[in-house]
Amino acid sequence: MNPFQQIQAHLKGAAAALNLTDAAYTALTTPQATHEHELRVLLKRGEVCLPAYRIQFNDARGPFKGGIRFHEAANLEEVTALAAAMAIKCAVVNIPLGGAKGGVTFNPKEFSRDEVLLIARAYARTFAPYLGVDRDIPAPDVSTDAGVMASMLDEYEKTVGHHEPGMITGKPLELGGSQGRATATAEGGVMVLQAYVHAMGKEMAGMRVAVQGFGNAGSVVARLLHEVGCTIVAVSDSQGTLYAPQGINPRLVEAAKQQSGTVLAAAGEDCEAMSPDAIFSISSDILIPAALDNAVTESIAHTVRASLILELANNPVTPEADQVLKDRGVVVIPDVLANAGGVTVSYFEWVQNRQQYYWTESEVRRSLHTQMLAAFEDVSARAVQSGVSLREAAYLLGVERIVEAMRLRGRF
Ligand code: NAD
Repeated sequence: MNPFQQIQAHLKGAAAALNLTDAAYTALTTPQATHEHELRVLLKRGEVCLPAYRIQFNDARGPFKGGIRFHEAANLEEVTALAAAMAIKCAVVNIPLGGAKGGVTFNPKEFSRDEVLLIARAYARTFAPYLGVDRDIPAPDVSTDAGVMASMLDEYEKTVGHHEPGMITGKPLELGGSQGRATATAEGGVMVLQAYVHAMGKEMAGMRVAVQGFGNAGSVVARLLHEVGCTIVAVSDSQGTLYAPQGINPRLVEAAKQQSGTVLAAAGEDCEAMSPDAIFSISSDILIPAALDNAVTESIAHTVRASLILELANNPVTPEADQVLKDRGVVVIPDVLANAGGVTVSYFEWVQNRQQYYWTESEVRRSLHTQMLAAFEDVSARAVQSGVSLREAAYLLGVERIVEAMRLRGRF
């Protein structure tokens, strides 16, 4: 199954359970606009031509919203699937935004930082007619960051001829970014995880946690969980797994990774180095995939020893693996809920830009907590009410909210 087929399977399941008409289903699963252009960028090495996309999936609940990724594997199907997931995610956390995604097909590691920023400017110039504070609001995604957002904002504002900071989120603070945006995905994930664990009548302190991926999302979630008393038994990156049954201090791993480029640099007497995939079969209470999509395959799902999975990455569990985990009684907190803290603080950034009034970090965190807790309660209540998994419940809720907005707008 390609990524778009995967998300269509989730949408189809929800549509059947909700008895959607064919017209409603078609309106729900058809992207509203697919923009595809070739970016021609003049670099010192000569001109490069790069395929670039912006998929505007659904804006029934508010302006399109979604990140832009720079990756050699970015293609129309993948970007469309991610745009659909954004629409569901915004509906699940009940923020007034729709779903979109963008991408440029190239490997940024083969280009200098200056070249990457020129490509970012070319993207903003080319796609400017489709973007805007009330139309479509991009954000960072794989291999794009606050600096890339700054270049895109500057180029967009030059193109349209006025200031419009709310046309993009994930910006540096100096250009209208929000406090707390950098850690929001992991913070939101921890808030949902705590709510689930407390609902089960348990405490976070003492829980044994394994985190796959030690980038923006993974390193922060490991640090936050360590701070609330969890034992981080393993962390991993593309080079390997670091395993310490007595517990790892994520701050020390962060320092080692910064110096040597891998978590394995922290290996020693009490910390064993293992293969990247070894993380999945390590004994733990909670497993957190925070690296790439489709990391947990059907065969890996049979070896998982945790009883709870928090999907901080997008799409980390294949549909076949999801079924195996369900059969084995492993609970999965799905990506459209677990990692929605990032887009929620992006929404707060957009609100602050529109008001031209900026919140403190604690105001952002308090609002994030309110929003994530409400989403968790909505999803878990729906799961109980309909007798389905948390993923199925999240899709039921998201689809229902989007379809209702489309119905009110007379779109089918
Ligand atoms: P990142 O590039 O900062 O980190 C990715 C990490 O995964 C790196 O440490 C890399 O070494 C590791 N990795 C790659 N291949 C691996 C492998 N085979 N085994 C173990 N580790 C491996 O990316 P990120 O921003 O942390 O995003 C991670 C995931 O979270 C992605 O799926 C992304 O879409 C999702 N996500 C991130 C955010 C956010 O705000 N950062 C928001 C929503 C979703």
